[in-house]
This record gives sequence, C-alpha cells and structure tokens, in this order.
Amino acid sequence: MNYQGSCHCGHIKFDVEGDLHSVKECNCSICSKRGALWWFVPLAQARFSTPESNLSTYQFGKKQIKHHFCSVCGCAPLGTGTFNGTAMAAINVRCLDNVDLSALKVKQVDGRSL
Ligand SMILES: [Zn+2]
Repeated sequence: MNYQGSCHCGHIKFDVEGDLHSVKECNCSICSKRGALWWFVPLAQARFSTPESNLSTYQFGKKQIKHHFCSVCGCAPLGTGTFNGTAMAAINVRCLDNVDLSALKVKQVDGRSL
C-alpha cells in the first residue's frame, strides 16, 4: 500500500510504500515531547516529492539519527538513520493521510533507557 505523507503546510511531501500494521511509541527525550508514532521502513521505500533540501534537521546525543522537521510549520514527519548498514526512515504516522490511528497496534519502546 502507498501512503501520502506531509508536514502541515506542504513544504515537505513524500509517499511511503509498505504495510502499516503497528507503530512504535518511544519514551526518549525527543519522542515524548513530539508525541510521534513511528513506523520504521527502509528509506528506499520513501520517495520525496518536494526537494530534500526542504527538510530541516535536528540532531543531538550521539547524532546517529536525523530528526527532520519543517522550518515553516514545525511538523516533524520523519527521521532517518542507518541501522545494521541499511538506510532507514522512521515515519511519523501522524503525518500520513488517511491512516486510522486507532486501528494501529502501538508498541512501547523504552528509548529513554538506551
Ligand atoms: Zn510545513
């Protein structure tokens, strides 16, 4: 299935291919403040329809994850990083269109302790 994603203002737009059944809710310092629900997919399954230079990026700690956000409207639709040698994307499913959040299985991740 193909999902359309964007920030609020449309400065960042992308689509993601895959089967979305469950998401991860993380209690680390940034995820808890953002309130994100993450869907992890290989970055190759995501395609941007706006220039990737539209992504503003925040990094902290070990700087292994790029937390992308829109500098215009402030939404944070995804993060990217390399995991076991594969470029991965963490999609914030709250920024995908036509997703029934109440139908998703939410797994808790203890990122705060990592
Ligand atoms: Zn925006």
